[in-house]
Amino acid sequence: MNKKQIIILGGGTAGNIFSHKLVKSLNTDEWEITVIDRSPIHYYQPGFLFIPFGIYRPEDVVKNKSELLHPNVNQVFSEIDRIVPQENNVYLENGSALKYDYLIISTGVDIAPDEVEGMKGDLWGLQVFDFYSFDGAVSLQMAMKNFKGGNLVVHVTEMPIKCPVAPLEFAFLSDYYFKRNGYRPEVNIHYVTPLPEAFTKPEAAKVFGNFLLNKNIKIHTDFNIAAVDNENKNIISWDEREIPFDLLVTVPTNMGSEFIGRSGMGDELNLMPTNQATLKARNFDNIFVAGDATDIPTSKAGSVIHYQAEVIVQNLISKIKNNPLNAKFDGHTNCFIETGNEKAILIDFDYENDPTRGRFPIHGLGPMSLLKETRINHLGKMAFKWLYWNRIIKGKDIPFSS
Ligand SMILES: Cc1cc2nc3c(=O)[nH]c(=O)nc-3n(C[C@H](O)[C@H](O)[C@H](O)COP(=O)(O)OP(=O)(O)OC[C@H]3O[C@@H](n4cnc5c(N)ncnc54)[C@H](O)[C@@H]3O)c2cc1C
Repeated sequence: MNKKQIIILGGGTAGNIFSHKLVKSLNTDEWEITVIDRSPIHYYQPGFLFIPFGIYRPEDVVKNKSELLHPNVNQVFSEIDRIVPQENNVYLENGSALKYDYLIISTGVDIAPDEVEGMKGDLWGLQVFDFYSFDGAVSLQMAMKNFKGGNLVVHVTEMPIKCPVAPLEFAFLSDYYFKRNGYRPEVNIHYVTPLPEAFTKPEAAKVFGNFLLNKNIKIHTDFNIAAVDNENKNIISWDEREIPFDLLVTVPTNMGSEFIGRSGMGDELNLMPTNQATLKARNFDNIFVAGDATDIPTSKAGSVIHYQAEVIVQNLISKIKNNPLNAKFDGHTNCFIETGNEKAILIDFDYENDPTRGRFPIHGLGPMSLLKETRINHLGKMAFKWLYWNRIIKGKDIPFSS
């Protein structure tokens, strides 16, 4: 008997989780599961934040995908060229086609510095860096070490970006880093955002705004970048404001994978239109979308995928059985925000509820505090790496999470 085919596009955080969850949930005598990814290397992306400050070494965030994916799934390492949904085929760059009955798209988002004039100009890798890629984070470490004074500009190009708190964390950790190495009085830290405040959600924005103020980090809001002027070392906004930099740490535009655009399936950022509750692709009945690749209005974060996974598995099984898609994702997100001094803030929210104060994960009891800077939250952030490698990407439960 020919087995039915489920193909998972992308073997990052989401692809890994589904490789484990689907093998456990489906009869593998009936179903064949294949993961396609361009790279055999898996990066623990939350660790990119810590590499420039020397807190993590590059090797701390890297593992082989083959060791992490479930051994009972087929692994194909190739660039995906396009999907032809009318044929239920995925084409690889060598022209071969793989037929699917059901598809899970989890190809994430990546930085696209070419979207802004001059960003990838002469100063890229010399005075203009990103920390959203492995290579960017590793080369930024040396630049931070050699930086002894001047304007450090931490900049966000446009939303949405993955882990939207990470640039704030970069600014807070820079303050801590330069205080520790004695150069803080010589370093002016600027935080430049296209948002009207420090963050998207009002109460959290107020808390983060106060942290910036207290750490003497100057915030520039509503800054929509038009260009990086490499000659004069300025970033220039469309309303003609200029901010000079000696070191620019930018989060470039985050875009979904190009093949989504080539397949004619995505929006202008190559994100997949997705039902925010069922996580089924809005225009395709046999396609689900997970993780950063969706256009749903929640944070792009590994923790989100953990909460999405069960919904997708249940709805996929319902779809196979021709039942209604009853499992609903509520937008649940939580993130730790490193604030320096070995402390962190924790936020927890969903589609309906903005981040607010309280205790987590046991309501009213804790032990972690929401929207409050504590040492235990920092320990939670540092424990996330262990949880990620050992539980999250293997699709296992996390203690107290629901
Ligand atoms: C600096 C930083 C800090 C972060 N901090 C946190 C945090 O503290 N907490 C948290 O929960 N999350 C954090 N995140 C976000 C988290 O890492 C991502 O949300 C998560 O990894 C997304 O998983 P994904 O599976 O959707 O995409 P990814 O893990 O990015 O996987 C996508 C996969 O698709 C593959 N792919 C893409 N296009 C193609 C193609 N054309 N052909 C073949 N393969 C392709 C890629 O190779 C990749 O393996 C952070 C991210 C960054 C960058």
